[in-house]
Amino acid sequence: MHRTDAVRCYGCGALVPAGDGPTHRYIGASPGCWAIYGEVLAREYDDIRYARLHQVTVDAYAAQHPGVPSPQSIQSVTLHLVSLCVVMELGWPGQDATRVIQRIANQKQAFIWLEPPSALGEMTVWDLHASSDPDDHAQRVRRWGHEVWQAWAPHHATIRPLADGVARTLAGPRRRH
Ligand SMILES: [Zn+2]
Repeated sequence: MHRTDAVRCYGCGALVPAGDGPTHRYIGASPGCWAIYGEVLAREYDDIRYARLHQVTVDAYAAQHPGVPSPQSIQSVTLHLVSLCVVMELGWPGQDATRVIQRIANQKQAFIWLEPPSALGEMTVWDLHASSDPDDHAQRVRRWGHEVWQAWAPHHATIRPLADGVARTLAGPRRRH
């Protein structure tokens, strides 16, 4: 990649290939960043060993690319931050976070736009793209998720009660395993 061909992703700030490829409807990513994310997801879908923390990958990416206020982006940012919270703070396994998202989605009418902090973490999707093996990948995803969650600290007080509430409602069935 030549320097002149690179632009900063307007979501995460990573230096990514310039271009006008496809982007997501409401996730606020530049086309180059969206394409790299697509490659990372492809690896997680193609090789189950890379998919252990798939939900954290999705959550961290969405929370690092909040976009602009709209009903969809408000819902997306809140859901993915709640999911990050249950994994990063409550210690839930990544795969259980998917159920959290499904459960809390029915409260979406109450969600509000959370003004994104000016910095959303140093790590970006490039750090996942550069992982060398499944263990390295999992470590990087976890660090990335932690960084993005910490970056959103100004809104932890809004997210934590939502995470605690949904964790309580799901605690029953979860214990039976
Ligand atoms: Zn980006």
